[in-house]
Amino acid sequence: MQPSGNRVHLETTLRNCVSRGRVLTSPAQLAGYDTDGLGYKEYRPDAVVIPADTDELIRVLQSARQLGVPLCFRGAGTSLSGGPVAAQGGIIVHTSALRAIRKISPEGFWCEVECGVTLNQLDEALKQHSVFYPPDPSSGPVCTIGGNVATNAGGAHCFRYGVTSNYVLGLEVILLDGSVHRFGGPAGGRGRWREDWKRFMIGSEGTLGAFTRFWLRVLPRPEKVWTFRATFPDLITAEKAIHGLVADASYPVAIELMDPRCVAMVENSPMAVGLPVDSFMLLTEIEGPAALVDARVESVAEILRNAGSRDVVYSDEAILRGKLWKARKVAGGLMGQLSADFVVQDAVIPKRALAELLQLVYDEADAAGIRAVNVFHAGDGNLHPNFLFDSRKPGELEKVELIGKRLMQRVVEVGGTLSGEHGIGNDKAAYMPLVFGPDTTRLQLAIPAVFNPRHQLNPLKVFTERRFTP
Ligand SMILES: Cc1cc2nc3c(=O)[nH]c(=O)nc-3n(C[C@H](O)[C@H](O)[C@H](O)COP(=O)(O)OP(=O)(O)OC[C@H]3O[C@@H](n4cnc5c(N)ncnc54)[C@H](O)[C@@H]3O)c2cc1C
Repeated sequence: MQPSGNRVHLETTLRNCVSRGRVLTSPAQLAGYDTDGLGYKEYRPDAVVIPADTDELIRVLQSARQLGVPLCFRGAGTSLSGGPVAAQGGIIVHTSALRAIRKISPEGFWCEVECGVTLNQLDEALKQHSVFYPPDPSSGPVCTIGGNVATNAGGAHCFRYGVTSNYVLGLEVILLDGSVHRFGGPAGGRGRWREDWKRFMIGSEGTLGAFTRFWLRVLPRPEKVWTFRATFPDLITAEKAIHGLVADASYPVAIELMDPRCVAMVENSPMAVGLPVDSFMLLTEIEGPAALVDARVESVAEILRNAGSRDVVYSDEAILRGKLWKARKVAGGLMGQLSADFVVQDAVIPKRALAELLQLVYDEADAAGIRAVNVFHAGDGNLHPNFLFDSRKPGELEKVELIGKRLMQRVVEVGGTLSGEHGIGNDKAAYMPLVFGPDTTRLQLAIPAVFNPRHQLNPLKVFTERRFTP
């Protein structure tokens, strides 16, 4: 927090940068920005600014630089890693007003969007042109393309299609000095906008600059989709099905797993869709030309049965398919509603270690008396153990942190890594030395040294060393 004299100066300066009503400073207004999806870690910003356009955003950045105040960008604030929070106080720049879809080129298979466009908003617009943008985080109704690019977001269908970085042809970024740079464009790294520095930008978690515009690759919408759900009595049979699906020539587009605790949680909520409880539930999908996928349906069902499923259901009908996906997609939000606090880890592991690591999660959590619920992108080996707890109860947070540390150590031992899609933020920054030694850390820190040398943008994120000193 800034001293009160400085806060008045900060507020006056910001009000001169943007149009009326776009600077928030009252405690009630700021409270909504204290946390991201991890509600238990709170940091109060000194001010929130909602620029109406890029000119206003440029003025805010330049002023923050002159004032020597930390600054953090925020899309929808759905991050699950402590990304869009003011860890050292200062300014939060909320990008919600920059939400125009500027162009869709169905014949060129690209679109141009502003950073505050939400994923579902983009999907609705693309539908009319029979194309789609594949990355699909479950937070799609609210999360923004800016947040997706900054975290290199994934999602259920990224098993087949790949994550956000595979779809960013170009981006516009504004640095702290207000200079505007464009890396790539509709023609990717070719043509007029040759530099492929966008690769440095994607996944940089708001530590290098403000992304304002993107050129994204889109694909033709698949003609036909079949969705399957299969229940399994235990982890071993569920893992066998995952291996079977990954190796199959029908090449599913998504392979998701919900554990019995997660299924029960959905079924005991107003979001219930009638799933059988007490089993692991695997959700998978194939899509493509109708004749091709229709011919593959039975063989996919057979893989699921051969692995040990007692109950395989599949459909190409929109309402039933929608219900199955609803169960999967609401699960994350429900944890936040049902528990005082929750932490979700985002480890990636080789798929051969799935059953072992999940068992470790249950054993550690049960021994500590903490509720653990699993729902994750199984095809990618992207585990999402959710630990439900109450940070007001003495010792609970410490127990969860200890479980997280032990889990991450084992993840690294089996050849995995810390994040598949949520990013590092400040929640996982302490684990970075488990994966990166001093030499690699030095190289990685050389990148912010070029763009944001004093760590004024999103300090204390990704690396604990990134502290801003005015
Ligand atoms: C219920 C639920 C389900 C989720 N499911 C998934 C999932 O399946 N896959 C997945 O990958 N994630 C998932 N997430 C996590 C989260 O939704 C993603 O990380 C998403 O990309 C964040 O987008 P956002 O707009 O909310 O960004 P924010 O949370 O606001 O910010 C995220 C990071 O991006 C930076 N940032 C935001 N906008 C900009 C910008 N314009 N310029 C520079 N930096 C910027 C912020 O500083 C921060 O570091 C889920 C979250 C929830 C709550």
